[in-house]
Amino acid sequence: MRSFIGLGANLGNRKQNIERALLEIAALNCTKIIKVSSLIETLPVGGPTNQGKYLNGVVEIETGLKPEELLEALQLIEIKLKRVRKIPNGPRTIDLDILLYGKKKIKTKKLQIPHPRMSERYFVMKPLLEIAPLIGRVLEELGD
Ligand code: AMP
Repeated sequence: MRSFIGLGANLGNRKQNIERALLEIAALNCTKIIKVSSLIETLPVGGPTNQGKYLNGVVEIETGLKPEELLEALQLIEIKLKRVRKIPNGPRTIDLDILLYGKKKIKTKKLQIPHPRMSERYFVMKPLLEIAPLIGRVLEELGD
């Protein structure tokens, strides 16, 4: 299935954290990277006021993993890259979110796809539209 993953980092060497995450994503079972967006610097949304700016991007993948398996795999990558997850919306070495998974709509305790409020978020939509200019239609269909 075609899926888009949001990438974010605002601690440590942000570019290197994102590059490492991309290498890990490329190494996942039955998964290949199709396209990677440019990385943009954005102001943090929510969370503590003194946290640093984010580097954000989006990667398009083709994967044989099911959504829940993909989420688990991404969470393991976050742990591997030593994500600090103490304060809600607080600083993190890496944040990986499943934005879209084909045209699937999912709403469980663990997983919501399309990712909540993604279409309002500049740090998601700017890189996403760069690599998938027609994605707006899919989001409209899915009612995000
Ligand atoms: P965050 O700390 O913002 O990365 O949120 C992580 C939590 O969001 C995890 O416990 C996931 O189960 C949940 N979650 C819900 N939907 C998604 C999604 N589409 N991608 C990644 N995490 C998700």
